[in-house]
Amino acid sequence: MSAVEPKRTLSPLENVAPNTTQIDLEYLGQLQMIASCLLEGEGGTALVDPGPASALDMLRAKLGQRGLSVADVDHLVLTHIHLDHAGATGTLVRENPRIRVWVHERGAPHLIDPARLIESATRLYGAKMNWLWGEILPVPAGNVQALSGSERIRVGGRTLEVVYTPGHAWHHVSYFDAANGIAFVGDTGGIRIANRGYVSPVTPPPDIDLESWEKSLEQIRARHPTRLFLTHFGSADGVDEHLGELAERLEAWSDNVRKSLENSGDDAERANRFVQEVTASLARHLEEPEADRYARYVGLKQCWYGLARYWRKHGDAP
Ligand SMILES: [Zn+2]
Repeated sequence: MSAVEPKRTLSPLENVAPNTTQIDLEYLGQLQMIASCLLEGEGGTALVDPGPASALDMLRAKLGQRGLSVADVDHLVLTHIHLDHAGATGTLVRENPRIRVWVHERGAPHLIDPARLIESATRLYGAKMNWLWGEILPVPAGNVQALSGSERIRVGGRTLEVVYTPGHAWHHVSYFDAANGIAFVGDTGGIRIANRGYVSPVTPPPDIDLESWEKSLEQIRARHPTRLFLTHFGSADGVDEHLGELAERLEAWSDNVRKSLENSGDDAERANRFVQEVTASLARHLEEPEADRYARYVGLKQCWYGLARYWRKHGDAP
């Protein structure tokens, strides 16, 4: 990935709570697509979801705006190991071997040996792998702190309650900062760009599980956070409405995909039709260019495949 050009103006850091800073990784030059969150305070500096290695130069530049560098980071707090959230983990640990990496126990083995992760991503992204994600290095087992999802961890001057929240991925956890009323919910909380009035699920293969997802949303609701922190993108308020809209849309998508499996045509045609229908729905709710940004950031075609896989496993879909 290209280095940050020296004269380019960086988008500003955003303070979302005391010692809690939203960092726009300006992924591949796109604003408000991938957010990391910097937690500072006693117990060591932490980054929630550091993003992919292709955005590392930007992460460094933004840490620099806070007078920090990778050498000052003590913890990486991962919601899950998808490359847009955690691809840079191995590279950061190589640079600063003091870093402790918090991750669900089902994700931990794939950080330590990313061969399968790389293999499945390569199947999907082919020649674009390096451009999209940069290098994906193994994380030494000694740096990894595996979580089951019932812990309390002390990082960045606060206690985070860890809660297992599968649905989007089997190895997904969320972190609740009760003192500040923030829930770091990764992709379980869906996609909502910069607190705008539209919440979208994100349902790529292979782990989508609707029953677990519903339970995970219940777990989030039960803790009454005042704000969610979404990787895509940033701080979001109106939590009850947000989660309600997400659940509704998830159900609508899942119905759409289940029915599409009964229609004639092949998967590529079904997926295309789904993309057209969701794109039309986005256009009804959002102005351009926002509707287009949502469609691109969510990755609608992959979302059809993720839900189709779920139904083929669980239903009587062909
Ligand atoms: Zn994900």
